Amino acid sequence: MKKLEEVILSHGKVLGKDILKVDSFLNHQIKPKLIKEMGEEFAEHFKDKNINKILTVESSGIAPAVITGLVLDCDVVFARKQKSLTTDDNTFSSTCYSYTKEEMKRLIVSKDYLHENENVLLIDDFLANGQAAKAMVAICKQAGANVAGIGIVIEKSYQDGRKLLDDMGIDVYSLARISHMDGKEIEFID
Ligand code: 5GP
Repeated sequence: MKKLEEVILSHGKVLGKDILKVDSFLNHQIKPKLIKEMGEEFAEHFKDKNINKILTVESSGIAPAVITGLVLDCDVVFARKQKSLTTDDNTFSSTCYSYTKEEMKRLIVSKDYLHENENVLLIDDFLANGQAAKAMVAICKQAGANVAGIGIVIEKSYQDGRKLLDDMGIDVYSLARISHMDGKEIEFID
């Protein structure tokens, strides 16, 4: 998505080698028009996949997921992140290493909102090593739901996540794919 690449170049800040800060339009302040275009783009890509549920992770996946759900006319569930390792009988859950918080997190989804045979589109803001996406896939598996695809706003393609998801045979659609980040330079895969 060309517009997103332009906004990343003009507003994104590269922290260290591997973290892209996009607080001004996605992770803290939200630009509704841009988020709307993201959701419409995801919906267009996955429109023939019979999606009847969207699963994302709080909090930054929620905005693009809601627009996608609006266009595809389906409900959106967000996995909650819990620090505690306590389990609840009425939830599906999976632990994953948080890339930005550098600690283990448990993602939980109530059994009330994810069901057997639902055709689920996963959405997240970033793809780095694929741990959050893998945990969402595990949660769908526990529910007996089918993963129809994954929509990612910003993929750092030089990290391990893309290969991990490709190897799982999942349709991954990323709106911006970063091939290289170095200081102030950000390069994209076309
Ligand atoms: P993964 O689980 O794929 O290793 O990392 C993805 C998760 O970590 C995303 O949900 C996102 O919250 C966070 N993340 C990974 N890389 C970045 C980054 O460069 N910038 C920001 N803001 N978040 C990131």
